[in-house]
Amino acid sequence: MWENPSTQRNIATLIADGIKLIGPDAGEQACGELGSGRMSEPESIFNEIVSWLQPQLLTGKNVVVTAGPTYEAIDAVRGITNASSGKMGYAVAQAAVEAGANVTLISGKTALAAPAKASLVSVVSAQDMYEAVMSQLEQMDIFISVAAVADYRVKNRSEHKIKKSDDKLNIEFIENPDILKSVASRKKPPFCVGFAAESQNVEDYAKKKRIEKAIPLIAANVVTEALDSDQNSLILIDEHGTHRLETSSKIEQARSLIKHVSELMKTN
Ligand code: C5P
Repeated sequence: MWENPSTQRNIATLIADGIKLIGPDAGEQACGELGSGRMSEPESIFNEIVSWLQPQLLTGKNVVVTAGPTYEAIDAVRGITNASSGKMGYAVAQAAVEAGANVTLISGKTALAAPAKASLVSVVSAQDMYEAVMSQLEQMDIFISVAAVADYRVKNRSEHKIKKSDDKLNIEFIENPDILKSVASRKKPPFCVGFAAESQNVEDYAKKKRIEKAIPLIAANVVTEALDSDQNSLILIDEHGTHRLETSSKIEQARSLIKHVSELMKTN
């Protein structure tokens, strides 16, 4: 679409002047050709503009977000994972980018595209995630742990595919490191935010978890409502009490969470 050199120059000048562009998208065009040149969908134009208008609450802060499930191998082809889609964690990473932070998103396997301005570190197991998080510790100002991390891994994973036999198959598990707890227990920890996905007694369990992990803020939700959904309703629990967010899209929940974090950091 921008093959004409003078058009390219004009576009480059606009970008250099700080003009933001949305699109063009690729696909079928009115003239019948396929390729780059379609107007972006109105909904994505709207969403993009809203994201530009977010207050710059975390300018210059280094934020690390974990997201998605972990996968604990049993043998060469099988493993144990969970139903986390990663949507909430990716929304938190997006909201932190919008707020002006430098964001590292450490993610288990998901079907999602990472926010354009976040650095994506892809991991598989809880141990991989632990190491990726620890390698960021020095420069981390804020750690938001959204990932659904497996509490246990297989002790002796088999290098080859386990064959069916008449014997009972016993798998021994050992505990994975608690990544959030390890970060929060450092001498000078970053500002830590945990997530608590519960199927019952959400608020009580989350309150206990915040104390047990020694973190200033935990975001709780009902796991059956949140899993793979585009909507969520977080309960933010901090030392001042409980703040319930109305049900809305995960990006709106994430923006409210980031605002809450920036307010708490001012008083900490
Ligand atoms: O203890 P529980 O797994 O319910 O705590 C959930 C919180 O702890 C989430 O923020 C999750 O990302 C984090 N977590 C972790 N490492 C683990 C288990 C949970 O960072 N091994």
